Amino acid sequence: MKYLLETYGCQMNKAESAALEALFRERSWLPGTLEDADLVLINTCTVRATAENRAWGRIAFFAAEKKKRNFSLAVLGCMAEQYHQEIRKRAPAVDYVLGTFQKQAIGLVLDQIENGSDFDLREESPAYVFSSTHHEPGAFRAFVPIMHGCDNFCSYCIVPYVRGREVSRDPEAILAELDALAVAGVREVTLLGQNVNSYRWRGPQGLLDFPALLRLIASRLGSGGRAKEAGIGWIRFLTSHPKDLSDDLIAVLASEPIYCRHIHLCLQSGSDRVLARMNRKYTKEYFLGLVDKLRKAVPGLSLSTDILVGFPGESEEDLEDTLEVMRKVGFSYSFMYHFNPREGTPAMKMDEKVPEKTKKARLAKVIALQKETTESLMNVRIGAVDEILVESLSKRSKKEILGRTARDEMVVLPGGVGQIGRFIRVRLVSRSGNTFKAEAVND
Ligand code: SF4
Repeated sequence: MKYLLETYGCQMNKAESAALEALFRERSWLPGTLEDADLVLINTCTVRATAENRAWGRIAFFAAEKKKRNFSLAVLGCMAEQYHQEIRKRAPAVDYVLGTFQKQAIGLVLDQIENGSDFDLREESPAYVFSSTHHEPGAFRAFVPIMHGCDNFCSYCIVPYVRGREVSRDPEAILAELDALAVAGVREVTLLGQNVNSYRWRGPQGLLDFPALLRLIASRLGSGGRAKEAGIGWIRFLTSHPKDLSDDLIAVLASEPIYCRHIHLCLQSGSDRVLARMNRKYTKEYFLGLVDKLRKAVPGLSLSTDILVGFPGESEEDLEDTLEVMRKVGFSYSFMYHFNPREGTPAMKMDEKVPEKTKKARLAKVIALQKETTESLMNVRIGAVDEILVESLSKRSKKEILGRTARDEMVVLPGGVGQIGRFIRVRLVSRSGNTFKAEAVND
């Protein structure tokens, strides 16, 4: 049996798709193509309109292909959760629509395709079951989901509606998975959740929050396998909400070298007025104070962010506040978007919409500032010696390797395939776009 899986959207979706692929491997299914797959799956995302439109396009495409050849078609993920009925109506050729709470039903789908057995998905329990993490055989990086869902209800975001309330994962399962990944040769792990800082697990020993989980992981893995030939050497986590990034978490980052000196800290806007309308629950002053504390406690920390411009009611003054915070913080990179209302969110109904042309012009300003900041921060780093985890051969040349620093900087240097998956020390010698060119340092 063969499958074809297309994935759109966030790291969480990618992690879940990786887990699905592992399930296929366990059941001896092989990756297939449009010509020979028995089951085509589209793992969808609704967070941005572009991802959603793309998925609608792919659903229509595969539905049309089904007229030429017989295969099963499944739509999974956030769109399946939000538009269950609409998918059924617009694309009756779709055989299975499995929302984010029903992914566990995929095993039943496979049973049905393999043996022709029957089941009714409406009988499925809505309780979310965490798919355990798997990674591509031979890969050096893996993503481990630690919590799921979000309770924050930012007014522009659909996640709490399609992913549900926050559910945290048993720390013992997380630790067991990290052990297995270390044995499988993984060197870097990213802990994933919509809002990892809200991780909470109540066990026999009492409440375990996110900093406590990080301490537990650090004590299990030691200070990492960077100096050795094997073992997990670096851990990252995604995504952090500024309001939940506690002093205790900062203390863990300062004291445990296994955690990378990079945090993706979503700002969205620098204007208190806009932040309040977004329901972000922090202010510009709080955000800048938090960055200050982080930088004092964790020297060399790099920060990246998400910026959303053109939110309803945003004025030129509000945009200036955002640019001011960007200038003060100096984000190493940003994911920058202009507001696109999502059906089913409070922001959809907000008045004072910003005209498209203005949104685009504001986005251009934000992008220009970020480009300038990225370049000047990179220029300051020329000459620095740092450690990288080598990830692959460079796409341009088989005589070059590509790696990343703990600060999430891309680095290319002369090297060979034998170095992939190793931590090596390099000197950053020049910059080419957003990638550093480097040379190896022996010490
Ligand atoms: S924190 Fe806000 S933006 Fe992030 S997933 Fe939750 S509701 Fe969405």
